[in-house]
Amino acid sequence: MQFPGTTGFNFNEPLIFEKSKKGRTACTLPENDVPEVKPESAIPQEYLREGETNLPEVSEPDLVRHYVRLSQWNYSVDTGFYPLGSCTMKYNPKVNEMIASNKNFTQLHPLVPEEFSQGALKIIYELGELLKEISGMDDITLLPFAGAHGELTGMLTIKAYFRKKGKERKKILIPDSAHGTNPASSAMCGFEVVKVSTGDKGILTSEEIVKVMNEDVAAIMITNPNTLGLFERNIKEISDIVHSNGGLVYCDGANLNAIMGIVKPGKLGIDVLQFNLHKTFSTPHGGGGPGGGGVAVSRKLSDFLPVPAVVRKGRKYVLDYSKKNSIGRVSTFWGNFLVMLRAYAYIRVMGADGLKRASELAVLNANYIRVKLKNYYDIPYDEICMHEVVLSDKKQKNRSVTTMDIAKRLMDYGFHPPTIYFPLIVSGAMMIEPTETESKETLDEFIAAMLFIAKEAEENPDIVKSAPYNTRLKRLDEVKAAREPVLKYLKL
Ligand SMILES: *Cc1c(COP(=O)(O)O)cnc(C)c1O
Repeated sequence: MQFPGTTGFNFNEPLIFEKSKKGRTACTLPENDVPEVKPESAIPQEYLREGETNLPEVSEPDLVRHYVRLSQWNYSVDTGFYPLGSCTMKYNPKVNEMIASNKNFTQLHPLVPEEFSQGALKIIYELGELLKEISGMDDITLLPFAGAHGELTGMLTIKAYFRKKGKERKKILIPDSAHGTNPASSAMCGFEVVKVSTGDKGILTSEEIVKVMNEDVAAIMITNPNTLGLFERNIKEISDIVHSNGGLVYCDGANLNAIMGIVKPGKLGIDVLQFNLHKTFSTPHGGGGPGGGGVAVSRKLSDFLPVPAVVRKGRKYVLDYSKKNSIGRVSTFWGNFLVMLRAYAYIRVMGADGLKRASELAVLNANYIRVKLKNYYDIPYDEICMHEVVLSDKKQKNRSVTTMDIAKRLMDYGFHPPTIYFPLIVSGAMMIEPTETESKETLDEFIAAMLFIAKEAEENPDIVKSAPYNTRLKRLDEVKAAREPVLKYLKL
């Protein structure tokens, strides 16, 4: 088996400031043919710069090489397989980028009067309608900028709902398998988080919920499929228990890629669902953005959603501020419009059948990997999974090879490591999400690399423990990098 591998050209590159040579420039401007104005005569004294700007001065080839070389240090979905679990690093069709860079959209100012932004407003409106259809929910806002921001918006909506009823509730139930943003978003809204145990099947049970559900609980926050890649099969029963106690059901919809066109969360008793448009509906993401975290709600929460909403009045699309109990604004202008545009293009190109097929293939690919690896790696919940599969390092640990070592070694074979040490309830977790966009050949290469590493761990564990060998940097002090980041080159 041939692995993509990571040997080859990989240029060292200094900071662009270090390449700078006084007077060197990447462009030449024509002679000035208007009278020169001294800055001091046009700009108030207090705004004038005092010293040199200290900007790098480089030629065009130096500039181009600098950024091209840096770009080659990055691993991306366009470089290769990127099985980062829960992040849905699917390939993003380039046609979406063409549409999102159309200047009729990019140069549209969000403050232009509605009659000049009808096309854009129509797209926001129609995307909302499509997502309502996909999710089976009653109303939607597309304003939040990311999944976590959608969670915050959803939790604020829940808070406002109970406040309006005159019966504030303090607690949120969250399973121990949840993404860290779930308890964080709840805590930011002033809720107290009650941890619910997932149990040995990896999913929530009604019995656990009955134990902790009472009139102090505002909502349960469930991820479905959950972070173990398992479908929460008891979700309907759980929703019924929560509702019968006057509570609400929040669903973290970041994993929608497993169930599009197959399950409508609205039919499972979900009251609030956040989408991660950048994951499921194909916007290049990572490194913190850009994202889209639309929030869909059931009828009873509609009036609490943020404003403005985009609504249709006859043949016109307008920004509507009329929700009486709205939590207010959560983002500037219309939200991340260009992410919505990509999602819209993606959904329209795929169609209902295409989206369903994408989910089916995402699930098939994850199960293919699960079955091929199961004799060599521990799979704590070894059953048919959804779009991702969670392994552990239990079998390799007796040779003192850990998940960290396996992840590092994968880079030598040319693969981005999976999500590691998450979910927290699996010791030494490796969470693999292949997505639907990978071919069988790519999956086979990845599987072969994983099997190779399992063999190395058995026969020569030191090789794995000292990996990586072929990457620019070896093992970093990740704690130091996180605690003492060097973010600034210039001392300003
Ligand atoms: C990615 C993810 C989030 C957070 O989404 P962001 O867009 O990164 O803020 C929340 N929950 C789950 C399950 C996720 O996978």
